[in-house]
Amino acid sequence: MMLEMLRKIVQEVNAAEGLNDALEIIVKRVRDAMGTEVCSVYMREPGSERFVFTATEGLNEALVGEAVLDPGEGLVGLVAEREEPVNLDSAATHPRFQRVPGLGEERYQSFLGAPIIHQREVLGVLVVQQEERRRFDESEEAFLVTMSAQLAGVIAHAKVTGAVEEELDSGVATPAKITGIAGAPGIAIGTAVVVSPVADLYAVPRRTVKNRRAEVRAFKAALESVRTDIRTVAENLSDQLNAEDHALFDVYLGILDDSRIGAEVAGLIKGGQWAQGALSQVMIEHIRHFERMEHSYLKERAVDVKDLGTRVLAYLQEADKEQRSYPDRTILVGEDLTATSLGEIPRENLVGIISVRGSGNSHIAILARAMGVPTVMGAVDLPYTRLQDRELIVDGYYGVVLLNPRKDVKKRYQKLLVQDEALSKDLESLLDLPSETRDGHRLPLLVNTGLMADVARSLEQGAEGVGLYRTEVPFLLRERFPSEEEQRQIYRTQLEAFAPNPVTMRTLDIGGDKALPYFPIEEDNPFLGWRGIRVTLDHPEIFLAQIRAMLKANEGLENLQIMLPMISNIAELDEALDLIHRSHREILQEGVVCELPPIGVMVEVPAAVYQAHALARRVDFLSVGSNDLTQYLLAVDRNNARVADLYHSFHPAVLRALLTVAEASRSEGKPVSICGELAGDPLAAVLLLAMGFDVLSMNVTSLLKVKKAVRSLSLEGARKVLDEVMIMDEAGQVHARLEQVLREHGLEQFIHSRVG
Ligand code: PEP
Ligand code: MG
Repeated sequence: MMLEMLRKIVQEVNAAEGLNDALEIIVKRVRDAMGTEVCSVYMREPGSERFVFTATEGLNEALVGEAVLDPGEGLVGLVAEREEPVNLDSAATHPRFQRVPGLGEERYQSFLGAPIIHQREVLGVLVVQQEERRRFDESEEAFLVTMSAQLAGVIAHAKVTGAVEEELDSGVATPAKITGIAGAPGIAIGTAVVVSPVADLYAVPRRTVKNRRAEVRAFKAALESVRTDIRTVAENLSDQLNAEDHALFDVYLGILDDSRIGAEVAGLIKGGQWAQGALSQVMIEHIRHFERMEHSYLKERAVDVKDLGTRVLAYLQEADKEQRSYPDRTILVGEDLTATSLGEIPRENLVGIISVRGSGNSHIAILARAMGVPTVMGAVDLPYTRLQDRELIVDGYYGVVLLNPRKDVKKRYQKLLVQDEALSKDLESLLDLPSETRDGHRLPLLVNTGLMADVARSLEQGAEGVGLYRTEVPFLLRERFPSEEEQRQIYRTQLEAFAPNPVTMRTLDIGGDKALPYFPIEEDNPFLGWRGIRVTLDHPEIFLAQIRAMLKANEGLENLQIMLPMISNIAELDEALDLIHRSHREILQEGVVCELPPIGVMVEVPAAVYQAHALARRVDFLSVGSNDLTQYLLAVDRNNARVADLYHSFHPAVLRALLTVAEASRSEGKPVSICGELAGDPLAAVLLLAMGFDVLSMNVTSLLKVKKAVRSLSLEGARKVLDEVMIMDEAGQVHARLEQVLREHGLEQFIHSRVG
């Protein structure tokens, strides 16, 4: 009962348009649910300790937005200070009580206030009041606390998006700043292109069009295509269905009739909306209408309407894709961007990326770093469906998006952009110089590749080979598994491009956040589930074909290395080795001449850290995947924006694990590399060098920066820093010390400070 009520209120608040609307619903519904006379919300003024009387049911509405409580004033202030509910049978006799003239509180004796807290910050206070002099009972208090905890997230979201939407509606260009997570470093100033997920009526961006006639035509064509599809299906099924079932198809055709939904959509398009937006608006209204019906048969029709609308949308999107052009400085914006959506935009047009979901460790962010495209992830409060064609600034250093920036702010960003370009130019002077410390220690820098585009850039930047070739990337960009021969050709290109330098190919690492469109894996906990080597050992046919393709591609070049992802026990490794040996024997029999290449294991799971010796003994090298290792050691999902600030690669536990692996590998006489994103961080270079990593493998964009860092350091000095850092207790301390080291070595250009 209680739960049902809570759920209903939260749902209604979620659907509210903007913050004020949300708060009004809250005060009404909470007052009704608790049977009190008053319910009000006091919101904290941003950047101050003052509370503004923002919404009420029962007190003087004329004072909404006017009445303000100064810091330390009143019971509302007390709730906020204590961050706990305050429950009183006689509010007026409490020493902190403060009468606000005109509010109309005199009659109400009892008071219950609960703080509204989001991410540790008090956003406001939710208060109920009653005439009767009594203490609210325990269950009432619990209800209010639960309500306010649930509403906090919704309110926080409404607060940010509400401000942006207000601006968009009123047309007054007030600056807005949305904070997300740094995805790929760099600054971009450009025009938003919003991509929507395929055939999702609820995620269609809003857009206006000039050529309304063409838009109506496109819509009619899409409608006709769906009608044709339905007729074809009806015909194909005609001998299996009785007349009554068959009539259903006529119902569908009726729904899609030009004179009904068709006419409504066309009407909206003539008003200036683009076809997809008009369609989504009309269909969603109709779906809601059916869903509200009592009769279960009619309720079911909502599903049909949704399905039909989705089909029309798919045709519209298809047609749109064929003729889409991109602005010169495109900033790609989307809710959940994938590698495929990246692939659709010509590289020279793409200057920035904003993803509403995901974090800096998501694979889309890794690809963006490899491509050198400034990116913000996890911008959850961005009203992204409304940003088409707007000018935006992307600050990929701090994970900030700016809309309508003030002139001076925009100027500062333009200056930063110019400085960044100058720095890249400056770094080019290092192209032909070795990656070597001042005291003569060589530290080869390799690259992580996946996209074809990485190859050319890597060679340009002087990469000494590939430390991680993510073979899943070409798999992700296709519509079925590539055949053995197709794979052989792809791998051959990689091997040839870098020969005689090594190319380390990782066997297919899918699962987690990397789902192949044609091989979906759906699990509650994908990162703890069927991932990496677990999938390929269960599907030896996939694994064997891949290994055979790699070995064949290596013929005559002999620069291949094979690497196994997500190994969490020795049995997995032994099985994988067996399969590799088997493929090798097979292709020798087929007459291919090739050696068995060096084989390595990725250390990405804590279990592998503790078994590093046993693993190293069985293979030719180890390579630390610090992205996953950090996520598993710290129990922080690499994709989850909410916990992104807990994801610290300089966490002492992570550093301890890295050192353990490096030492184990060395004592077994096997080389060790690191290929997670940490390897591309100039700050980390100091530690990785001192720990004894033999190779750093990184996204190509970081290569020259890290080379510069390596060339400025000495091994001896780095070891001293490592000793200092290994006894620190907190990631923050380590980070601060490393920044200081970079400054001491004249590398402050790699430390970025915040604008605005
Ligand atoms: C890693 O986990 O550090 C790694 C290099 O692999 P990926 O990022 O592809 O999971
Ligand atoms: Mg990994």
